Amino acid sequence: MDQQHPIFIPGPTNIPERLRRAMSMPPRDHRAPAFGRMLVPLLEEIRTVFGSRDAEVALFTASGTGGWETAISNTLSPGDRILAARHGTFSQRWIDLCQRHGLDVEVVDCEWGEGLPIDAFRRILAADEKHRIRAVLAVHNETATGVCSDIGAVRTVLDAEDHPAMLFVDGVSSIGSLVFRMDDWGVDVAVAGSQKGFMLNTGLAVVAVSDKARAAMESARLPRCYFDLREMLDAGRRGQYPYTPAISLIEGLRESVTMLLEEGIEQVHARHHRIAEGVRRAVSAWGMRPCARHPRLYSDTVTAVLLPEGHDGTDLVNHAYATYGVSYGIGLGYLATRLFRIGHLGQMSDVIALAGIGTAEMAMKDLGYPIRLGSGVAAAQDYYRVAGEAARRRSA
Ligand SMILES: *Cc1c(COP(=O)(O)O)cnc(C)c1O
Repeated sequence: MDQQHPIFIPGPTNIPERLRRAMSMPPRDHRAPAFGRMLVPLLEEIRTVFGSRDAEVALFTASGTGGWETAISNTLSPGDRILAARHGTFSQRWIDLCQRHGLDVEVVDCEWGEGLPIDAFRRILAADEKHRIRAVLAVHNETATGVCSDIGAVRTVLDAEDHPAMLFVDGVSSIGSLVFRMDDWGVDVAVAGSQKGFMLNTGLAVVAVSDKARAAMESARLPRCYFDLREMLDAGRRGQYPYTPAISLIEGLRESVTMLLEEGIEQVHARHHRIAEGVRRAVSAWGMRPCARHPRLYSDTVTAVLLPEGHDGTDLVNHAYATYGVSYGIGLGYLATRLFRIGHLGQMSDVIALAGIGTAEMAMKDLGYPIRLGSGVAAAQDYYRVAGEAARRRSA
């Protein structure tokens, strides 16, 4: 009975059997025409998942972190000034990567649990009369805190200030699960990863770039080699690769995009919202609350649950794993002990979510948390019975 249990970490996600099979295949020749015939339409269709008609997409053998590096090293030069907010582990790590590349990062520090600081961005961009800021970095969904920020609002500020900075968005834990409108939001580089919304093994950084970012590639002077987008995009247009591609992951991605489009990208978003709302009702029934400071910031892919005083999130996660064989996300950064995270993205359903909520209750009860067994499960059941009805009718 090994591996019978779903996981509840915010990436890697559970992998549908259909995708596991798609990734398990005999060796294929990536120089053969059949590979190109698969790759070219895939790179076009995947844009729907990014909410784009015009972007160009590249698939690097890397994780999301490689996507961050792709975004900056292709478009910026040493010493360039960029603007970023630090409000969780992932925004922190992207800033660190930029600083190690010799970029001059203007960091706005925010409380963890807050979203992007739109007013501070507006003030800083308005004061930047010489337009020295070349790019704004935004983490759409801060996986450490379960905070989903308003990227459209960043675009509105850039436009209102008539500021030409590029907009780079980390959509690693949102794209493929949450509403993402690359074109409408004027995103210049968007980064996703195979192991989150695409429900695959880790190993692909999926990067979408706008015309403006492509133009910036021509004059950018940061060193780039493995992550050179010019080579990758040139080859991709011809169905080729500058080096050996991660063929089985790309086969998996082909199937994953088909699955997402079959379900309908809007239905995928609605499903994530419904599942997340049930989890939040459970959290509330436990007498706890999400780390996100405001309901409009609640993430539909991960809920970071603040724990009662005197309880340690890492202990809870370790206990749940050791006792019930179920994984939840530990707290990250300085919130490490104060919360635990329930990942509910990718291959997830109401039924699977109920197992995650119920098992978390058992683990909490074991450790003396002041909760009543079944309280969170019942709250989620009440919600799913009603809210899931429309989706069940559609698929019947
Ligand atoms: C998972 C994740 C990443 C990328 O991490 P990798 O481990 O390099 O794939 C980046 N940003 C966010 C918001 C994430 O959730």
